[in-house]
Amino acid sequence: MIDVEEAKRFVLSELLALPSTGMTLVDALGCVASDEILAHEAVPGFANSSMDGFALRSADTATGQATLIVAGALLAGDAPSRYVEPRHAVRIMTGAPLPEGADCVCMIEQTVVDSDTGTVAISRSVPVGENVRYAGEDVKVGQTLVGAGDELDAIRLGVLAGQGFATVSAVSRPRVAVISTGNELVSSGGALRYGEIRDTNRPTLLGLLREAGCTPIDVGAVRDEYDVIRSTFERIAEECDAIISTGGVSVGDVDHVKGVITELGGTDARSMQVAVRPGKPFAFGRIGSRRVPAFGLPGNPVSTRVSYELFVRPALRMLGGHRAIERLSVDAVLDEALKRSSDGKLHVVHACARIHDDGRVHIESVVRPGSHLMSAVAGANALLMLPNSDGIARGETVRAIILSAEALARRDEAR
Ligand code: AMP
Ligand code: MG
Repeated sequence: MIDVEEAKRFVLSELLALPSTGMTLVDALGCVASDEILAHEAVPGFANSSMDGFALRSADTATGQATLIVAGALLAGDAPSRYVEPRHAVRIMTGAPLPEGADCVCMIEQTVVDSDTGTVAISRSVPVGENVRYAGEDVKVGQTLVGAGDELDAIRLGVLAGQGFATVSAVSRPRVAVISTGNELVSSGGALRYGEIRDTNRPTLLGLLREAGCTPIDVGAVRDEYDVIRSTFERIAEECDAIISTGGVSVGDVDHVKGVITELGGTDARSMQVAVRPGKPFAFGRIGSRRVPAFGLPGNPVSTRVSYELFVRPALRMLGGHRAIERLSVDAVLDEALKRSSDGKLHVVHACARIHDDGRVHIESVVRPGSHLMSAVAGANALLMLPNSDGIARGETVRAIILSAEALARRDEAR
């Protein structure tokens, strides 16, 4: 048996980010910028008003009391065609260009308009620059907007759109194929014959992949036949950036996946027994002409999930060029004692975690162990990492990988 860290090192060693490609801004959401991007336009491009009000000359309000002649209006989008003479004011809307002559904007709420005389009265002195957004205040030409390796979140995409960019060069989104193996698997919704089960790993993995910013490719389910599994792996390896299969890596008579991965992966592929529960059997190799990483996960649904989190997700994040390849993890307080056996393995347990009023993350409940108990795992938002021991007392802290940060702050009562 090898420990989790060694298995993980084996997977991650030599994995490189995929090549970059041009993509539309919206398609690039969550991808990693391949190059530094500099601003070539100032933002804002011209001085403009940050308020609905009146553009005027500060000096005209110096005494704290002014009645100015209203000389037209400027809407956002108008050209700044007017010149503001002394003792005049121009009605101006948010975003409209500051007209020449004016050096400040008095907000409408601080004015009294007299439409009969065409004047506006202001009973305060308005400083130069008040409510004016100057050219280049947000972005200056030449400034770095996005660094190479930065993740393109929605705000960064907005900043790029602010320069008129329609596309961006980013690390390709990994295309990840998912294959289920097992004679017992049924993918359709029809009635099951005795002995058959529904394929639940595939939709779960396809969902986890989308959540991790990958493009999932559904290869379907294949029967436990060595040649069929091998030809499927060979074919798919030419069309994707990584392959995940479930089932067939244990010691059963038809557990062929581990053999296929080690055959196609050559000398540096490995079929492993990892010191972790669940998720002990695991195969990894790089296959095909492009040496695509292929992960053979165990078939039990909870094992699949745990192996995915431990080994696959960090690897896929590396392919995507991310600097942060791990999920958030925290030290969390156990609200109930946790029994476990001392078996030399890391135990990985699904749990419900929540931030309490003491500001700490508490583990309010844990899902009972059982690598097939998928429905109990639904709703868990943390994975506890329990190193070898006889158990952990209430009030002790444990390392928790946070699967959903939003759920940490949920307001409902613990289940
Ligand atoms: P295996 O790793 O192939 O020995 O499978 C272990 C267990 O997981 C068996 O009970 C399988 O029926 C079950 N299993 C395998 N693949 C799937 C799948 N795609 N969806 C749900 N259960 C599965
Ligand atoms: Mg099987």
